Amino acid sequence: MKKNHLNFNNMPVLSRRKFLWLSSAAAAGLLAGCSTDPITGKTQLMLVSEDSEVQIDKANSPRQFSADYGIIQDTALNSYINQTGKKIASLTHRPGMPYSFRCVNAAYINAYAFPGGSIAVTRGILVNLNNEAELSALLGHELGHVNARHTAEQMSKGVLTSAVVGGIAAFAGAKSQTYGKIAESLGMIGSGMLLASYSRDNEREADALGMEYMAKAGYNPDGFIGLMDMLRKMSKGKPGSIELMFSTHPMSDERYATASDNVRNLYGSYQKQPVYRERYMDNTAKLRAMKPAIEELQSGDSEMGKGNYKASENHFRKVLSLVPNDYAGLVMMSKCLLIQEKYSEALKYAETAKGVYPGEAQAHQIAGFARMKKKDYEYAYDEFDKYEKALPGDSNAIFYKGFCREGMQQFKESAVEYNRYLQAEKSGDQAAYAYKRLVEWGYIKPAK
Ligand SMILES: [Zn+2]
Repeated sequence: MKKNHLNFNNMPVLSRRKFLWLSSAAAAGLLAGCSTDPITGKTQLMLVSEDSEVQIDKANSPRQFSADYGIIQDTALNSYINQTGKKIASLTHRPGMPYSFRCVNAAYINAYAFPGGSIAVTRGILVNLNNEAELSALLGHELGHVNARHTAEQMSKGVLTSAVVGGIAAFAGAKSQTYGKIAESLGMIGSGMLLASYSRDNEREADALGMEYMAKAGYNPDGFIGLMDMLRKMSKGKPGSIELMFSTHPMSDERYATASDNVRNLYGSYQKQPVYRERYMDNTAKLRAMKPAIEELQSGDSEMGKGNYKASENHFRKVLSLVPNDYAGLVMMSKCLLIQEKYSEALKYAETAKGVYPGEAQAHQIAGFARMKKKDYEYAYDEFDKYEKALPGDSNAIFYKGFCREGMQQFKESAVEYNRYLQAEKSGDQAAYAYKRLVEWGYIKPAK
């Protein structure tokens, strides 16, 4: 499975510091302990406490939502998704978790959950659902992952942490050594790293729980079969648009067959419950009207992944002719132009994106890159500052602020940022670069 290598998204993973903290804390036995599996009632070895699950969620989910072009600006649709999710969440095994549900602007087909209960669905998947029962199946499945504590389980086994480390290593290895190529090197970071770790057994369990929850919440479990059928067909017809979903939620015809069997054998009496087709259609009418634009976004994204920038640019032009103020369309177009080294044009789209969705991080990040490439370091610094404020804790923003200060010949201020960066990140090319500068400028005495 080929990852999208031309994606400027931030890597929504644990920061290295957080990761080291978790590993050392676990090694020191601070987090180790047995807890009761909320589903089976059995005692399980769990290295990650519930508090840690919530903390990891809080530290990482905002970056993933931003990488997915932010929460949809259609507040009515977003609260419909949230209310539907909350209704189901109250009937789960862990009703007290701080659940929240939202739709993000990304066009690819996906849904995901962070361990504290922050759950997202993409525009791409919503336009392919037929009724509220299918939506409840999707949210129920994600709630299944949170309730069975799959992320914590993967972390306890070391599966997740090694995946995260692998991601960082692959990134550092592939990265360009010259910082004149920052935009290109950032393109190596794909999204969804923290999420890519469920096993097939996890999927089976999340499916079983999802069906239980949605049936209990009053939905016809046929919605679960409908969802599985859609995903199965998409994986054959449009594999590119659904790739990430399959890398995070392993899929097969088996899941469709199991869902059909379970509805028949276990939930037959629930089939009298409604699927709420009209309610879903009403709430998603505006979004569904944009389906052609969302499909163009998917095509543009997939062409960009193959390195066909001209073709992807054409798809993004179509998107913007259909929906001129589409934030994801504007940011993707800007990235596509940036990769082609058309900095002024890229900046134009990034500026429009900033106006369309004030305060969202990616438009500032991309505008910052375009400015930096044009050597407008002062303006670039300002953009990276806004980017850091929009996504506190994103160490990349700190590095680029230092880099811009350096470009402005403000070495003292630059050193402050590089020092902050090194507090957060101890390894990688950027850390090596920051360290080298601090040594050159006499702020650090190199060890002999
Ligand atoms: Zn899953």
